Amino acid sequence: MNAEIIAIGTELLLGEIADTNSARIAKLLRDLGIDLWWISAVGDNEGRIAAQIEQARRRSNVVITSGGLGPTVDDPTRGAVARAFGVDLEFRPELWQQIEARFERYGRKPTENNRKQAYTPVGAVALENPVGTAPCFAVEWPEGVLIALPGVPREMEYMLEHKVTPYLRQHFALAAVIRTRILRTVGMGESLIDAKVGDLELLSNPTVGLAAHPGQTDIRITAKAATAEAAEGLMAPIAHDLLSRLGDFIYGEGTLNIEDKAGELLAAAGQTVAVQEAGTEGSVARRLASSATAAPTYRAVEAGAAAGQTVTELAAAARATGGTDWGLGLMVALPPETPRLEIALAGPEGIETQTLGFGGHPGLAVQWAGTAALNLLRLALLKQARAKHPAT
Ligand code: ATP
Ligand code: MG
Repeated sequence: MNAEIIAIGTELLLGEIADTNSARIAKLLRDLGIDLWWISAVGDNEGRIAAQIEQARRRSNVVITSGGLGPTVDDPTRGAVARAFGVDLEFRPELWQQIEARFERYGRKPTENNRKQAYTPVGAVALENPVGTAPCFAVEWPEGVLIALPGVPREMEYMLEHKVTPYLRQHFALAAVIRTRILRTVGMGESLIDAKVGDLELLSNPTVGLAAHPGQTDIRITAKAATAEAAEGLMAPIAHDLLSRLGDFIYGEGTLNIEDKAGELLAAAGQTVAVQEAGTEGSVARRLASSATAAPTYRAVEAGAAAGQTVTELAAAARATGGTDWGLGLMVALPPETPRLEIALAGPEGIETQTLGFGGHPGLAVQWAGTAALNLLRLALLKQARAKHPAT
């Protein structure tokens, strides 16, 4: 069974708003174990929406639209759905009563325009919308169902939770769940990881995929099964395999950031860190200070990067002025200056310095250098912990 989402609204195509509704719907479909194959956006044009829905009803079992259910002429979804299914719109007295009752609660009277909202395609199942004026509806056919939801995100989310979820569960007697694990790697480029785990990316359940961020790549494992436990069971051996192939390049799971991990290790060792950085606008300091695990281990020092100082001197100065166990130094210069990305770590055993090659977009260089510096700290802390407790 497969699904698709159609986001309706000219604002989306003008780039005025981001399509957060589709992301919410996608998450719901994932949680219900329904495969989502397409997301599209279409403007407030009845003909084009109808064409999109016609295609969707032929290739998908679940079609969910958001937007275009308002009372104005540029809210064309009802008409478009009717057109796509070759039926008329019909007036639904019970929906009109709901609309009137809602206006009454606000001490107002609906306008003649609002009557438009009491129409649905002939044969549609009405889904009452208690948080807005626009009633929603579902159109069923032998292999599938289309559900039209309002555009206002808060209303749409309410309908998803309270109407769409029970409706889909019942209609399709859903049992399957989809679960995801994200293993986070640092220090190894996406293509290198791909070379090491490419065979796993060909699996079909679980599936394995990569997503690159500056200096950091996520490996996503997704499994589908009858129960959450069964899905976890499918993923466990793959995660184990990935860990044995990539070792310390995997630093954590889920939403854990590299600064969170460094903070965890610092806290476990009862140690602290300070930073001196040039050309990064205090990026690493900010990352450490805003991480719940790293913040307690981070000591702010005044930015005192004198011109001409080396990155090694920055790291040493951070450690000395912070009175900390570790000092991180960063020096980032970007075009039109001569590009330079240097990081250093001063610790109990001396100072380690690295010059980074960087071929990415200059706008990502600071993030990338910061991640590399925090990783240097993480690896030093791992090494220290293993020297103390060889079993780990
Ligand atoms: P109403 O019943 O309130 O008139 P509607 O179904 O007509 O709602 P729209 O007019 O299409 O909905 O959208 C209302 C507002 O909701 C938009 O101005 C926009 O801010 C927001 N919105 C619409 N679609 C989306 C979307 N896909 N993602 C995020 N926000 C959206
Ligand atoms: Mg609209």
